[in-house]
Amino acid sequence: RKQQLELLSKVDSVTRDGVRVRLSANISSVKELEIALKNGAEGVGLFRTEFMYMDRHALPTEQEQLDIYRLVAEKAGGESVVIRTLDIGGDKELDYFELPEEENPFLGYRAIRICLDHRDMFKTQLRAILRASAHGKVKIMYPMISSLEELRAAGDVLDEAKRELDREGIAYDRSIEVGIMIEVPAAVAIADLLAGECDFFSIGSNDLVQYVLAVDRMNEHIAHMYNPYHPAVLRMLRATINAAHDAGIPVSVCGEMAGDERSLPFWLHLGVHRLSMSPQSLLRIKQSVLHTTARDAAAMAADWMKLRTSNEIERELDIYIKAFH
Ligand code: PEP
Ligand code: MG
Repeated sequence: RKQQLELLSKVDSVTRDGVRVRLSANISSVKELEIALKNGAEGVGLFRTEFMYMDRHALPTEQEQLDIYRLVAEKAGGESVVIRTLDIGGDKELDYFELPEEENPFLGYRAIRICLDHRDMFKTQLRAILRASAHGKVKIMYPMISSLEELRAAGDVLDEAKRELDREGIAYDRSIEVGIMIEVPAAVAIADLLAGECDFFSIGSNDLVQYVLAVDRMNEHIAHMYNPYHPAVLRMLRATINAAHDAGIPVSVCGEMAGDERSLPFWLHLGVHRLSMSPQSLLRIKQSVLHTTARDAAAMAADWMKLRTSNEIERELDIYIKAFH
């Protein structure tokens, strides 16, 4: 069965009725990229860079970061690589970087909030990403955006980094795309405004589910409440995707939900055709795409969206999975 799956790595990811669903990878190292490419990934939808900053004693330098970003961009061979800026805090800590003890780390000092507070560290990373963009199809993505101010403030640092590189005569992609993760309910509520000021959305369902449902993604006592198929989450997904479509920008999904075959009908119904997932999920999801008739799956999901409770939705998803897999 594993061998059968491996044969799929070179097959196009298209539904029975011809709808293309691009499958890219979430990676946090060059090694993971290699696994992803072996499994047929179409580029990198999420490069989690915090792992470059972890397990060491000081911040990585611009050159150290550039070496890795460039290697990833080159290995991806012309496919796009979305590099997410540092997303520490919450569940991820750094030895050499004093983070405050917090009552609610996931509601606290993390991700873009830390970066905007440490502009030099942030600018170093942006410079490295910009420089890597001269060697492949690199895109920038900011995590945890919850307001236009944050997006603009990040843009200011990016502009400064670009001006510096211009002055130094260092090459970068002048039309590099800049996107944001949609993973905070506030971002969903203002998705139309955010879409007007960035190039793409990527839905981070892992955090979005925990923030929408007020269910800590790390707390085992309430793990049963952490449900991506809660009607509230599905409505948030719909609002985000519609806002992206209205603004004419691409939207993808890079949370764990993308690697769950039960979610595929929803994406086909809502109009998402780019999914990014762990390298280990790629072939399983591709198999699911190949077995699916988009028209039928979308019609089913349209009905599921009308159900009122998670239980009802999950019952339908169980029936669907048993019938189709
Ligand atoms: C997410 O929140 O869905 C996501 C992809 O980011 P991370 O899991 O790294 O927080
Ligand atoms: Mg996240």
